[in-house]
Amino acid sequence: MASTSRFDDFVSCPYNKAHIVLRGRLTKHLVRCSRNPENLNKLLVCPFNESHRFDAQQLQAHIKICPERAGLERHAQKEEQPLVAEPVSQVSIECEEDWDNEPDAPTYDPSAYCEENLVIRSSGLHGQSKSVRRDFRAKERRRFAEKQ
Ligand SMILES: [Zn+2]
Ligand SMILES: [Zn+2]
Repeated sequence: MASTSRFDDFVSCPYNKAHIVLRGRLTKHLVRCSRNPENLNKLLVCPFNESHRFDAQQLQAHIKICPERAGLERHAQKEEQPLVAEPVSQVSIECEEDWDNEPDAPTYDPSAYCEENLVIRSSGLHGQSKSVRRDFRAKERRRFAEKQ
């Protein structure tokens, strides 16, 4: 009576083979099934598709052949291309040169050119002044305590 083709859109749950789930509902089912106390931490989730779940040993093998992985890697390569073309390291070199060549220029605005440097410098100062202030406050408190 029941031909196997009827079950083409059904997959069995990796937590329990007795769970036959519609392929489209598998992710939802897995979330629910993984919350079952006896399934907790039983299976690891494929990093490429959260509906791929295996025990630790099977996952190692699966990751090498996961169909989602091929798609992701192709996607990642596309994303990376414009980044590679951008001259990222040049920015800091230009910054150093400007700092040395035009230190006395009246219109020179270091924040426009060396924003990154400035953040590091001022955050360093900030950290220092904070501890200085803390020391100062501690001394004042001690002085106040001695007076009494
Ligand atoms: Zn299940
Ligand atoms: Zn996978």
